[in-house]
Amino acid sequence: MDELERSLLNVFTYSDLNRLVSYRNDDTRLQSLFSDASSRYVLFHRSQFLAKVQPEIKPLSIRGSEIERYELDIRSQVFLGSRGKKHYFAVDLADSAEIKPVGRGDVEFIGLRESGQQLKAEDASMLSYAKAMFHWHHAHQFCGKCGSPTKSAVSGHLRQCIDTKCVKAHFPRIDPAIIVAVVNGGKCLFGRQKAWPPHRYSVIAGFVEPGESVEQAVVREVFEETNIALDKVNYHSSQPWPFPASIMLGFAASAANAKIILNDGELQDAHWRSVREVVAGMVSRQFRLPPKLSIAYRLIEDWFNAHSDEKLADVMEQLNVDQTWWPRWIEWKL
Ligand SMILES: [Zn+2]
Repeated sequence: MDELERSLLNVFTYSDLNRLVSYRNDDTRLQSLFSDASSRYVLFHRSQFLAKVQPEIKPLSIRGSEIERYELDIRSQVFLGSRGKKHYFAVDLADSAEIKPVGRGDVEFIGLRESGQQLKAEDASMLSYAKAMFHWHHAHQFCGKCGSPTKSAVSGHLRQCIDTKCVKAHFPRIDPAIIVAVVNGGKCLFGRQKAWPPHRYSVIAGFVEPGESVEQAVVREVFEETNIALDKVNYHSSQPWPFPASIMLGFAASAANAKIILNDGELQDAHWRSVREVVAGMVSRQFRLPPKLSIAYRLIEDWFNAHSDEKLADVMEQLNVDQTWWPRWIEWKL
């Protein structure tokens, strides 16, 4: 399996969307698509998307004519691209908009964190794209250079400063973050922060800083948090992480030393665990892994499966380990 194949297994990554970048500046074509019967609009409101929730969670997209009929109060709109013969737009409704989802009990606005694992991979990917775009629009209402308001342009893929002397173009931004499974003698390095839910552990993560490569960020973060030096760092896969605006760059690394010191105090606890110790911790409910939605879980899963006769997913199913609960801290700390 190469890195592309590994990344495609990550939630939010697999996509059948053709982004049709060349359409973004083609106003004539987009105007005709707005009202075309084949066009679909996915709706967001306060960072949640409109979904049909029974019998399974599925985004509910509507037609352009319905946008007009419901007189929806639109804050931002983005052209996403096409899937098959349908063209997709995403619409972000004003926070103050009065939303009454069609009077149906099985339709509601829901969060992507809670539902991402249950969605079809291609839907999860498209929604994560739209969610990240709307976060960017919302956070870049003013020009960082001159302070004037900005306006949406290029079908939602650029924000332009309205000051005629400035006219700075602002492009969508993402924040790169590294995450790494560090292994020593077959054991994996786990840490937890004080603010996390009880017994929740994960692998080491942190934001890439200006002036360093992502590999250097891996080495720095692991050393800052645990005093562990790395002697090998290998890229694993990546995952868009729209909570609110990251790309997670996953790595596997081997340690050059074993003694842990919590240098920067960011972690409350860190230790090495073998596969056997991870299983024992899950059995006693004293050790919880990150949600399956996350690349953190995938890194741990690959380490686990390489050191065990049993697959992690099978072990968790046998133990009936609950992973549905999603902690709030993920929003601000990876
Ligand atoms: Zn400006």
